[in-house]
Amino acid sequence: MIGEFAFILVLFAIYLSECIFLPAGHSSVFKRSIRGRWRISLPPSPVSSACRVVIEGLLPQLGSVFVAEPAPPLISLSGVCCSLGGPDAEFSKYIDFANAEPFLSKGCTVSSGSEVVCFSGTEQQAQLLSDLLANLKASESTKRDALITADLRRMLDTRRAAQRWRAYKKASGFLSLGSWTMFGTLVALFVILVLLRFQAVAVWPLAVLMLVVIPHTTYVFYRVHLIFFRRKVEDRWKRIVLMFLTPPACIRAGDFIAHELFAGFHSLAVSRVLLDDAGSRDFAARTLREMMYPLDIDDHKYSCAAAEWAKAKWMKVVWEWMEQEFGDPRQLIDAPRKATANCVCYCPRCLTQYLFLRTSCSDCPGIAVKPFC
Ligand SMILES: [Zn+2]
Repeated sequence: MIGEFAFILVLFAIYLSECIFLPAGHSSVFKRSIRGRWRISLPPSPVSSACRVVIEGLLPQLGSVFVAEPAPPLISLSGVCCSLGGPDAEFSKYIDFANAEPFLSKGCTVSSGSEVVCFSGTEQQAQLLSDLLANLKASESTKRDALITADLRRMLDTRRAAQRWRAYKKASGFLSLGSWTMFGTLVALFVILVLLRFQAVAVWPLAVLMLVVIPHTTYVFYRVHLIFFRRKVEDRWKRIVLMFLTPPACIRAGDFIAHELFAGFHSLAVSRVLLDDAGSRDFAARTLREMMYPLDIDDHKYSCAAAEWAKAKWMKVVWEWMEQEFGDPRQLIDAPRKATANCVCYCPRCLTQYLFLRTSCSDCPGIAVKPFC
């Protein structure tokens, strides 16, 4: 009996470990609830490089989607401002394209020679960034503006994100059969061994079923992974080996693909696809407020001319995107409705309301409050 209990415990521990993820500190995470609704969980503010833990739902297909950092790195026509170390770093470093060493990505880190340029939210985003930087370095300075603008617009391409999501839903339908069969088999195994106190011999039909489900799921996983991540060969085989060695991993086969499905897209574009209209509008309004009223601690590090240019460029592209998605963006940052008749002012960044006149918001360092009209 002890042997069977240990076996069940090991299987359960393996499965639990498949549901826990440590995304890069800067990524935004979209999580799905049991009812199938998505919600966004942003990195703790102010953005830090501290580790985050995401625990996914234990049922199949309750995975999460990781997307890149809330703001893209500050890339200008002449070079890139390195964003390192979160709030502790006093100043940013600037790498000029003219004397930069080749740009490369390793895991989530983008670097130029021995200098780290940035830590990206996902591995694929880091790859895309290093490709863009290498491309900018190689091209003439007159062509760089168009390249940067095109890259920012690609991050916000809602139509392409929606297409990718539709393709994923179609393909993951085939994976869900394997995931749910494996889940059901493991639950049945648990019931037989623990509650009914049967001998291990009685579970052999379930063991046979598992031997059928594992190759089937890994085969479908291989085909689907190939469609979405053709170049990530090593990652594909690592997952397949994992599924053979630890069968509970098959339950999460579809979720493994969802994790980096939107790498390269900005969370604004992904929110239009995954959240409902009101949810994505709220998120867009919050993002716009945070861009228009940056915190002192984020702002003083990047105050060179190149950083200013990059921030203005990003603002312009986001503004255009919001106009296209929601109409006039100014209506997104309107004054909030008074919580009580006595409120006299509010913070334009976090929308906290105050009963007495004051100069700045207590939660947002350096942000001046605005009076209600
Ligand atoms: Zn505030």
